[in-house]
Amino acid sequence: MGRVYLIGAGPGDPELLTLKAARLLASADVVLHDSLVSREVLEKISSNAEIVDVGKRCGRKLLTQDEINSLLVSYAASRDVVVRLKGGDPSIFGRAGEELQALREAHVEYEVVPGVTAALGAAAAAEISLTDRRVASQVLLSTFSRGANAMDWGCLTPATTLVLYMPGPDYAEVSRRLGEAGLPGELPCVIVSGASGAHQLVRWSSVGALSNEEKLPAPALMIVGRVVSQQVREISDAFWRGERNESSAQTFSVS
Ligand code: SAH
Repeated sequence: MGRVYLIGAGPGDPELLTLKAARLLASADVVLHDSLVSREVLEKISSNAEIVDVGKRCGRKLLTQDEINSLLVSYAASRDVVVRLKGGDPSIFGRAGEELQALREAHVEYEVVPGVTAALGAAAAAEISLTDRRVASQVLLSTFSRGANAMDWGCLTPATTLVLYMPGPDYAEVSRRLGEAGLPGELPCVIVSGASGAHQLVRWSSVGALSNEEKLPAPALMIVGRVVSQQVREISDAFWRGERNESSAQTFSVS
């Protein structure tokens, strides 16, 4: 029986791989990777390794999650070093929970090797600090979801930095949903596309102005909050002093 390594590939730049990830890629027998993993990172894989792309392409899944889980278990029976390589960190919107459960149920040995999640790559690209003792004491990594696991917007406060993964191509909808969550239109945000990669783009905006922004290529995420304001503009003093209008006061339960 081999061992499965769930490895975070980071946001794109191969220099952001951990030393451990680079070592395991160089000694892997088989690597199953997502489409988010950059070409430069894939080049670090041993030339003897079998490479399997299990990612999504053009909205169509190449393999279902159950199929990926079964593949991991069956490769572990015949190979020593099985690498499951995911963009960013495996534990952030990476379905690591389902894969770890499948490995545990099949009594396969595994190890998780963390990576630099896109939020951190994007903050570095935009040269902002996600927490700042003057304005932001908490960071929320989130995405829009519908149904049972819908986002609990009640936990947003004026001291929260919100990092929105997978915002989708419809920025007008994002703007509307953030507005419905009680975020003021003048609250600044930054969209970062391809953080740490050769085609990285950084676009400064605000919750209200988002609807008119040109779409940036995927993968992209948004950082919303006061920490962004230090780079772009002064937020109205009144808002941050707590002199908010009724509708936003309802949703910002903590100030
Ligand atoms: N496990 C990954 C996230 C997977 S969800 C991580 O920890 O980073 C995929 C989403 O991550 C994308 O839709 C995008 O919102 C974000 N993302 C991934 N790589 C990115 C990058 N290089 N730049 C900006 N956003 C990125």
